[in-house]
Amino acid sequence: MTRLSPRQILDRLVSFPTISRDSNLGLIDWVEGYLASHGITAHRHWNEDRQKAALFAHVGPMVAGGVVLSGHSDVVPVDGQPWTSDPWVVTERRGRLYGRGTCDMKGYLALALWALVEAAVRGVQRPLQIAISYDEEVGCIGAPPMIAAMQNVLPKANVALIGEPSGMGIVTGHKGGTGYRVHVKGFEVHSSLLPEGVSAIMEAARLICWMNTQNADNAAKAVTPLAAAFRPSYTTLHSGMIAGGTAHNITAADCRFVMEFRVVPGEGVDDWAHALEAEAARIAADMHAVRPEAGVHLERFFAVPPLVPEQSGAAEALVRRLTGDNGTGVVSYGTEAGQFQAAGYSAVICGPGDISQAHQPDEYLEVAQFQAGQQFMQRLVEALA
Ligand SMILES: [Zn+2]
Repeated sequence: MTRLSPRQILDRLVSFPTISRDSNLGLIDWVEGYLASHGITAHRHWNEDRQKAALFAHVGPMVAGGVVLSGHSDVVPVDGQPWTSDPWVVTERRGRLYGRGTCDMKGYLALALWALVEAAVRGVQRPLQIAISYDEEVGCIGAPPMIAAMQNVLPKANVALIGEPSGMGIVTGHKGGTGYRVHVKGFEVHSSLLPEGVSAIMEAARLICWMNTQNADNAAKAVTPLAAAFRPSYTTLHSGMIAGGTAHNITAADCRFVMEFRVVPGEGVDDWAHALEAEAARIAADMHAVRPEAGVHLERFFAVPPLVPEQSGAAEALVRRLTGDNGTGVVSYGTEAGQFQAAGYSAVICGPGDISQAHQPDEYLEVAQFQAGQQFMQRLVEALA
């Protein structure tokens, strides 16, 4: 097959509607075929029901070191969003490439695939790898098993570059996070007999009050150096959805809500998780004392480690050399970079586009950003050659 330009690759990637709830196999099949046509063997890591796969590939000598370019294949839905043009067709208007995923983050994947083929054609002394995950947009679920599988098959790269939109600037830190679906199970009685029942809503309120107290305590604490660059510069707890109850005069049998932590580097995501679990257990014990069937059920549905800024990290040094960016950047959204770092890679974020364009109707990537990304990849391949 002829070598495609980054723009031609982007056209293909966007044409696959890889919304997180659906299969991504169309895209993965195409990528595998395209790489194979240039003599690059790709490997898959399947999800449980084999409806989705992650893909990774290696170019260069079969030795450890080098760079892995990483991005996610899934995109957020377009349901109910007012799009001016077909979200699954890249449409260029006024210097912008419109389409779902152009910014987050198929633009970067197109550049990474282009770079991999360039590296294969010209030959590199140090390895260049690509890793394409699934289920990022639903809580960074897909990357950890992919990273584990990759290390069983390929030599381990030293540097991981995660191309989430950062305006091609360097981002060395982000918050971690974890989320829970909470089901508070009460006991129904007529509300005139309140002490004999358990209101799931009022017990849920205790847990949510605890969250408010944590926020206030965190805000009042001294800011740590690792957290200083974030806005806000402390860990936050938030509930974004709640439902429960059937009537004003029945103690609620059920109350369900979701909650999330956004944890600054330097604090443990799991420590916060355990604090929530302990508080839920305390509340549940009070509920049990009234009705043994009442209680609090917690379902943890995602957990993402923070990206901790590294002391003289290899990834940071490389990206500074390639971009000339001497600034410092942190972001408050979670990415797969923290997961690569937790697996022993030196990791930073650097990718084209503006995060404010991600997930929007009429999502776009500026052509100038795409071109800057191509120059970055060109320099990277030269640096590895
Ligand atoms: Zn993304």
